[in-house]
Amino acid sequence: MLTQFTINTCKSFGCRNLGLPISASADYSWPDYRLGFPALHCRACGSYPPLFDEQQFNEWLSAHLSAYAFENGHFCPECYCNKTICYGHNPRGTQRVQCRVCRKVWTPKRQLPGEVIPPVQIETVPLIVPFQGGRGDQKLYVLLSFDAIRGNILHLSTNFTQHPIGETLRYLWRGNIEPELHHSDIVKRVDMREMHFLRRSQFDEIQYGSAVLKRNAKGAILRPVIAAHGHFRVLNILFPEIKTHVISHECFLRGAVITVWAELFRQQQGELWFIEEDISDSDTNTPWYFQGKTHHGWWQSQWSLWIQGKNRKMVCPLTGGDSSNAEMLSIAASRHFIDWLYKQTNFTHSAQLSAGGVTQILLSLAHDYNDRLITAPSGD
Ligand SMILES: [Zn+2]
Ligand SMILES: [Zn+2]
Repeated sequence: MLTQFTINTCKSFGCRNLGLPISASADYSWPDYRLGFPALHCRACGSYPPLFDEQQFNEWLSAHLSAYAFENGHFCPECYCNKTICYGHNPRGTQRVQCRVCRKVWTPKRQLPGEVIPPVQIETVPLIVPFQGGRGDQKLYVLLSFDAIRGNILHLSTNFTQHPIGETLRYLWRGNIEPELHHSDIVKRVDMREMHFLRRSQFDEIQYGSAVLKRNAKGAILRPVIAAHGHFRVLNILFPEIKTHVISHECFLRGAVITVWAELFRQQQGELWFIEEDISDSDTNTPWYFQGKTHHGWWQSQWSLWIQGKNRKMVCPLTGGDSSNAEMLSIAASRHFIDWLYKQTNFTHSAQLSAGGVTQILLSLAHDYNDRLITAPSGD
């Protein structure tokens, strides 16, 4: 039987329906077209999250999670439970694993590293990278999640999928890219990005560039919002208890995190923060100074501005959160990785590869990067 993962739900922090599926609340009505697209209306908080085709989403997500489990072995490919035990070896000497719940036995393609150490804080950022498709210079939407304290990559995924997908999950490029935000004033940048969210056909429908696969290529390009839900589902199975998330300023990343860990957020056990940074001096250790608060966008979210010499950052608590934590938050781990990535010739030459090829290179570089952190924790 297909496990049901909720995607159509109220995504408002503080609402009694946060994370509850359609069948679990009488407050929902759907489809509602008030905002010009099919939405779920939550009468308890007045929100209108866009509706997804839940069956198509679950079919893809099940295939995605199983493939991850067969590859990495951290959880069961059948029931997605993360309670597994080593279960002897196959005839070629490779470690087999058994699920303690459904007893499924399988041989992960990658040998399991020792224990996965649960992070205290996860930091997630998007990255757009080129690939060779029907034409040159097609774009892939990549999500990178790090242990924000240790700096290692916890999960990397792209919106290329090798699995068949329903049409509603497919990314459609309408030829109208959102302008890049180069504004030198970080406060204006946050404000302008909020305006971009409002100009989208719906809040979660980012237009990040053309992404056409080669003719007859296997696989498909997912809407980034779908890739984000898949990305955070994997992290949720690995780290169900994670308390603090820091994410780039992108509204559908917020929606995916709050949906996936809804139970923790309902119990006020989690913190979720937007962060925007302007770092010109990454070596300084001087303290950050709080500069003031501003409100931005449709939701009039409250952001605080912090200054450290020439450096600026803005942070926004999305789920209450203790604002004294804001001083310590950063996306430094992803900055280090992306700097390193652009020095790897494997990566800089990968624009000639297919979307699947670029995804494989990124995964392999992520493993190299983690190995390098273990062997040379202080070095360059
Ligand atoms: Zn609600
Ligand atoms: Zn199982």
